[in-house]
Amino acid sequence: MTEINQKKILIVDDNEANLFSLQKIMEKMGPVIHTAVNGKEALDLFHQFTYSLILLDIQMPGMDGFEVLEKMRSVPVKKYTPVILISAIFTEEQYKLKGILTGAVDFLPKPVNPAIIRAKARVFLELEEHKEYLKTLINELEVKNKQLNQEISRRKKVEKELRKAKIKAEKKSEIQNQVLVNMSHEIRTPVNSILGFADLIADPDISGERKEKYLRYVSNSSQNLLFLIDEILDHSRMEAGEFTVNEGICDLSELCTEIREVFERIKHQQGKSHLSILLKTPEEPVRVITDPQRVRQVMINLVSNAVKYTEAGAVTLGYKILNKEVRFFVADTGIGIPTDQLSNLFQRFKRVETEDSLKAQGTGLGLSISQRIVNLLGGEISVQSDPGQGSEFSFTLPLKLAAQPDLTEKQTASEPEEDPDFSPYTLVIAEDEEMNFLFLQEALRLTGIQIVWAKNGAEAINKTIQLAPDLVLMDVKMPDINGFEAIQAIKKERPGQVVIIQTALAADDKEIKKYHKLFDDMVTKPINRGFLIQKLRQYLN
Ligand code: ADP
Repeated sequence: MTEINQKKILIVDDNEANLFSLQKIMEKMGPVIHTAVNGKEALDLFHQFTYSLILLDIQMPGMDGFEVLEKMRSVPVKKYTPVILISAIFTEEQYKLKGILTGAVDFLPKPVNPAIIRAKARVFLELEEHKEYLKTLINELEVKNKQLNQEISRRKKVEKELRKAKIKAEKKSEIQNQVLVNMSHEIRTPVNSILGFADLIADPDISGERKEKYLRYVSNSSQNLLFLIDEILDHSRMEAGEFTVNEGICDLSELCTEIREVFERIKHQQGKSHLSILLKTPEEPVRVITDPQRVRQVMINLVSNAVKYTEAGAVTLGYKILNKEVRFFVADTGIGIPTDQLSNLFQRFKRVETEDSLKAQGTGLGLSISQRIVNLLGGEISVQSDPGQGSEFSFTLPLKLAAQPDLTEKQTASEPEEDPDFSPYTLVIAEDEEMNFLFLQEALRLTGIQIVWAKNGAEAINKTIQLAPDLVLMDVKMPDINGFEAIQAIKKERPGQVVIIQTALAADDKEIKKYHKLFDDMVTKPINRGFLIQKLRQYLN
């Protein structure tokens, strides 16, 4: 009965003797008993405490029990406190009725029968207990309800995020479709030209002059195709967040000179012989730490656009050293870009929608890739243009000056004036692709070097061990035993064997770095003939 013990009962009676006897009767049940001898005292206590039950005498001087009850009932938060009226004289039915109407829950005549009053009191005290239990239930319910509401809003949030992700995925797939549509068109153009001219070249009656011209077309289209494939690969690497930059030392003037030379040659192939390619660089050489390959890529992109969109005049490339940065620029006197199209020019697939612009082929990827590269290198790219007069693209890079000499090597070299005589030497070329082997064989034909073809890793090992050649040119990616495994096997038998790897992987690629002690040197694909001969000369003479 601990709970009942904590409960309170108020007994109101003007007669001290009655009050005392009622108190004694109720005390046995355990609750705390408060007493009042008149209506005012009763109301004061009523306001102060919360009672589980009130026993209220009706006949009292001043304020009688009915009046007290009425006042109690007018307090909203306590209006349901159970009140039992007690009286000796108001026992007729009409008084009982008045009592009930005023809000009493019961009516007891005096003298009070202790057993009856206790039994009644117990009912109300238990009722109180139930009420409290109900309250805890309601509280628990409220907590659960709150948790449920939180769960609902969490789910709504998740749903919203899922919806967003779905829209993003749909958009991505839409973009991918767009890439495919754009790319298939762009790829078809050079492929058609390669296939078409290759057919014409096969004609036995073709004149030497035409044959040379068609070969040039095939070569140009192949270059375009290679460029396009690189662009697509870079784009998808960027989309997948797998595009990385590798710092090295970059000689800025050397880089610009080399690019000018490349375009000086290319411009003829593109029918733009009349275009001047000019260079504007500071006199003092500047070497900075950045990713030289990526800077070269951006510059080639910009110069190639400048040449593509300029019919007459000049393309000027170069750089300036500013306070804390390098500013590269490529200016042209070409068709220019309408002012309203400048702001979104660096978005992927964006091409200027004018007749002059669309005459030239393009994917609309070059500038977006260039912008992303420049940003990765810590710079900004921008454009200024005067429609009909020309454009100037420029980009900045942080000026981190390099102290040591440049160790990175260019993989291009001009054609040797006279082919060296390598006829006393033997070269094993490990290459699983016949076309690639034929190219290498042809590229080295005039040197007279004796070539042995190993079509896979196993042949490369056997032939090298058997023939002890002066040099091995080893492809890395071969189906059975790859190049690195083959070199390991060769070096076990012939530790001094010089092996140059030929690969499409960059010098800073993870795998190349991992195995760099294994091989002596490398040439990257697509292989430049001048560079290859230069490399062989290094080891053969
Ligand atoms: P594309 O492969 O079409 O050349 P880019 O992303 O390199 O793609 O260039 C986007 C568009 O910007 C081009 O299609 C062309 O309309 C315009 N553009 C780029 N460079 C020049 C330039 N030097 N002169 C005029 N328009 C240019």
